[in-house]
Amino acid sequence: MSSANVLIRAAGVERTVVEEVYVHPVDPVKVVSVRPDRRWERRPRCGVCHERAPFYDRGHRRRWRSLDDGLLRVYFEADLPRVSCPEHGVVIAAVPWARHGAGHTIPFDETVAWFAPGASKKLISQLLRINWHTVGSILTRVMAERDGQDGDRLAQITRIGIDEVSFAKGQRYLTVVVDHDTGRLLYVAEGRSKTTLRRFFDLLGTERSHALTHASADGAEWIATVVAERAPNAKLCLDPFHVVKWAGDALDTVRRQVWNTARRAGMKAVAAQLKDCRYALWKKPEDLTERQRAKLALIQTTNKPLYRAYLLKEQLRKVFAPGGAERVHLLDAWLAWAFRSKLPSFVKLARSIRAYRTDIANALTYRLTNARVESMNAKIRLLIRRAYGFRSVEALRAMILLCLAGYTRPLPGRT
Ligand SMILES: [Zn+2]
Repeated sequence: MSSANVLIRAAGVERTVVEEVYVHPVDPVKVVSVRPDRRWERRPRCGVCHERAPFYDRGHRRRWRSLDDGLLRVYFEADLPRVSCPEHGVVIAAVPWARHGAGHTIPFDETVAWFAPGASKKLISQLLRINWHTVGSILTRVMAERDGQDGDRLAQITRIGIDEVSFAKGQRYLTVVVDHDTGRLLYVAEGRSKTTLRRFFDLLGTERSHALTHASADGAEWIATVVAERAPNAKLCLDPFHVVKWAGDALDTVRRQVWNTARRAGMKAVAAQLKDCRYALWKKPEDLTERQRAKLALIQTTNKPLYRAYLLKEQLRKVFAPGGAERVHLLDAWLAWAFRSKLPSFVKLARSIRAYRTDIANALTYRLTNARVESMNAKIRLLIRRAYGFRSVEALRAMILLCLAGYTRPLPGRT
């Protein structure tokens, strides 16, 4: 083997023969003139689908940026022949050193993917001499390839959590699916609809979808529908945190109503008192300050409906606080109480809770909350900020998958 070919093997490129290496006299760059090895050359393949395809023409000569050699930039240079693919027509042939449509070699792409999760934007851009949006394009093609190959990532999952995260100032959404048992991200895709979620189940396949035993979610109708349709054996668990939040909203409706009534009746002192009792009503009793405790005591004596609403909210929180199968009857007792409460917002809440009773009882029985998904979402929000400057949602998705889906990626040349 010639020393040039030893070098190219060391650069992490396979099935490639070096024809010539020279340093460009004007720009200080090193150009490595290459071609695929004989075996590769004799069996050309379509760059898109990698299927065998007949040779079409020699194409043009072009360059790919590779990893630097010391301070010198390195470019691969080769003819890029075209093939005539039965499916894709006349397209550029696959080459062993770069991905289809890429302007960088595979080891360069892999190095970017290795740096992207942890290193600062500035470090990556300066060290590798590329724009941040180029990092986005590279991650997109690296992950598109990896995602397609790595079906096993979805093997042996039984309990999943489903949620959504907003981005682009709340204008767009990502649907997120997490494995409860490993905490790994299983799926992320743009949108929050039945179609988006169905694509996850398509990826999972019928057999594995049917093997799912539990799915947690926040009560969104589109999630419940698709889970029932695709994972018939999965018990849907409605996240208790969201149920308690609904109760907080119902309580706030009561507070606003009594405040408005007092204000209209000209009861200024009462109105003022109600206006700033929001936190006292909202906080957990054990976290109340002395002042807030006094406010609550005052409400207890002066405003029966509001105090009743407060007790209902607190009782519902306690139903979920430890959870457990034995809490289901407390939930039913709470429902009966709420229906009798004469507080319209709580009667309405009781109706929704009754509609979801099975899913809420499941969450109590199996103690499955959406906490794992919420913490995943927090990590995703950080990555959304990090991906600022990428030019496509696919690049954002690639960054999220790369960082959170449990892929291990060695640096080229180190295994
Ligand atoms: Zn093809």
